[in-house]
Amino acid sequence: MDSVLVADGVAKSYGDTAALAGVSLAVDAGEVFALVGPNGAGKTTLVRCLTGTATPDAGDVSLLGADPRAARKQRVGLLPQDFSPPDRLTASELVAYYAGLYDDARDPDAVLREVGLDPDSETWYGDLSGGEKRRACVAAALVNDPDVLFLDEPTTAVDPAGRRALWSLFEDLADAGTTILLTTHDMAEAERLADRVALLADGAVAATGTPSELVADHAGDPRLVVDTDADSADFGDPGGSGFAPERTEEGLVFRDVSPEDIGDVVAALDDAGVPFEALSWREPTLEDAYLALAGAAERAEVTR
Ligand code: ADP
Repeated sequence: MDSVLVADGVAKSYGDTAALAGVSLAVDAGEVFALVGPNGAGKTTLVRCLTGTATPDAGDVSLLGADPRAARKQRVGLLPQDFSPPDRLTASELVAYYAGLYDDARDPDAVLREVGLDPDSETWYGDLSGGEKRRACVAAALVNDPDVLFLDEPTTAVDPAGRRALWSLFEDLADAGTTILLTTHDMAEAERLADRVALLADGAVAATGTPSELVADHAGDPRLVVDTDADSADFGDPGGSGFAPERTEEGLVFRDVSPEDIGDVVAALDDAGVPFEALSWREPTLEDAYLALAGAAERAEVTR
């Protein structure tokens, strides 16, 4: 199957700043692909290269099998991070305006209802809440019924219920075959929506995989986190339980501990006279993988 989006060895610098230093990835038709990474990692620059609004200094890009600048506008939807439509338009006028740019657009009011906005509302864009504004922008990006959708932080400022509603809308689009490139800082969003995730750091891909592959390879073991001010030396393991906690920002962390071991850990904490406020056991998440990978990239940068 031909990939819908391809970056092959893409490099792009702004003056002395190498925003992208040789990025390669390919996104297949119908795939939801998430780009994650710290601020300044190069995500927006990569999206700009793939949509044709920036030209790589080196390497190749293609969108729908051709130069991104040649792709038919009708087939591409783009929600930029900094999309700021005129304040004095209603959401319905805004989406109707965008619909008018295409030969074959969807009914703007139907799209507004899909993103959870009232098409009959007279409220101007400038008076909408942050989350409503973002939803109106999502509607504008969807009105041409695109085959490929670029979503740059689509749910920033959207409240939890609105975010879930947008997630299920994106899932429906993906189920219907839309290819989606999503950039996000929200690991729950990436974990829920993405078939594959690429972590970008310092203009390079630090890791790519399905969310569960990244978790398995980089997120570490299940852990029991004990909320206490105590240090690992305070634990000391006087009863010889064999547990060896590590002090992190979260508290005392016991790794590779199963839920059945929790009673033994509590007994060992008691033996050691370590007081604690609370404890929680959890499986590693994509956020743990992200922090491990982004932290490793940051340490590599410091020692370079
Ligand atoms: P991200 O989207 O991951 O936050 P960007 O692609 O916006 O990262 O930026 C990558 C790097 O390139 C940053 O160091 C940023 O300051 C720099 N950069 C991006 N766009 C420009 C520009 N138009 N002019 C100068 N520097 C830029």
